[in-house]
Amino acid sequence: MKLYSTNGSKKAVSFREAIQNGIAEDGGLYIPYEIPKFPESFFSKISTLPFQEIALEVANLLLKDEIPSDQIEKIIRQAITFDAPVRKLAPGLNILELFHGPTLAFKDFGARFMAKTLSYFLKNENRELTILVATSGDTGSAVANGFFNTEGIRVIILYPSGKVSEIQEKQLTTLGGNITALEIDGTFDDCQRLVKQAFADEELNKRQWFSSANSINIGRLLPQSFYYFNAFARTEEKDLPFIVSVPSGNFGNLTAGIMASIMGLPVNKFIAATNINDIVPKYLETGIFTPKPSIQTISNAMDVGNPSNFARIKEIFKNDYNSIKNRIFGFSFSDDETRGAIKEIQEKFDYLIDPHGAVGYLALKKFANDNFNYYNSVILETAHPAKFINIVEEVTGRKIEIPDLLKGCLQKQKQSVKLSKEYGDLRSYLFTF
Ligand SMILES: *Cc1c(COP(=O)(O)O)cnc(C)c1O
Repeated sequence: MKLYSTNGSKKAVSFREAIQNGIAEDGGLYIPYEIPKFPESFFSKISTLPFQEIALEVANLLLKDEIPSDQIEKIIRQAITFDAPVRKLAPGLNILELFHGPTLAFKDFGARFMAKTLSYFLKNENRELTILVATSGDTGSAVANGFFNTEGIRVIILYPSGKVSEIQEKQLTTLGGNITALEIDGTFDDCQRLVKQAFADEELNKRQWFSSANSINIGRLLPQSFYYFNAFARTEEKDLPFIVSVPSGNFGNLTAGIMASIMGLPVNKFIAATNINDIVPKYLETGIFTPKPSIQTISNAMDVGNPSNFARIKEIFKNDYNSIKNRIFGFSFSDDETRGAIKEIQEKFDYLIDPHGAVGYLALKKFANDNFNYYNSVILETAHPAKFINIVEEVTGRKIEIPDLLKGCLQKQKQSVKLSKEYGDLRSYLFTF
């Protein structure tokens, strides 16, 4: 696979370079020159394949020119160790549950695949790679878990002290081993600034080999296309228009869906479901992309005021507003509407959904005018409701069972290194690391 930058540099890089660099030299995001297509025959047998086999087929299609198939198979067997099941709520209305991984959110797919792939590429290096990542919560826990015990890679996570939930903090700080959590006396923006300063520090980079694992890395994006194929494979009404509603923040997930459709997955429409951070729905309405400061909501993993992956979507559609508008519908919703949807889904379908999935439901409902049975529709449920236990319990009056995976880390002892938000402190720490 050869990739180029969304910022205009047409210099082709390999997948290996793209995953190691994270971001292109000119500051843009990597995007494949060409996305290969499955033959029709793949889709006639797809419902007979289990998820892991589907993931293997997609990974082979994309990466076989760069990674031998036995190694691709090894990566998939190690990374995709949990299912992405579909629950049918009503005729034409399905939920794709993406929360069965170790941190109970869809980011596990990308983080684990990226970790195993990087580890494969680094096998013959005799230096260690250090992944530096700033997190406001969920990204850090998925990355920490994904890279835990991965040979040749150490991970340093910076998180804002007192500004992540208790569950998130435990997920970040209780693994140990090759994972180190730095508790920064500052905000998420401070953490992000510190990481950028470290990447730009020439003296430091001579001593240590750094990379990032944030969501714009193509190594996290590609594996997210796997479960779109699985969604189609597991639904029953395949002759109706296939509609996918994607709760969106930075738009990585939706970009992966569009890539799946270029590979031949017959998606009729994508629905960009957002909270009041409505930059993309506004763009779809007006043709103007206006980033704004993000606003805090109860679906906080989607509180993004400048969705970076939209640059990839524009590039894929050659910046043609009309073709984007033809494929993607966008709707945004308030927290009150989101709470209402959590309650409605519990009452109508006896299903507990998290706030992000609830936004996906609202957008699909608006698109379908309540007539779900005209479509073969799927809502991506991006997190387990137990991750947002307070909101979901309050709205539904139901008790949520905390999954064993979460219970386990809640009982462990937090281990973190406390640092100020001054770059000098981080720098001295990294020099002795
Ligand atoms: C990250 C995240 C999102 C947003 O996904 P993008 O790929 O950034 O659009 C949605 N829901 C949950 C639970 C998330 O963690």
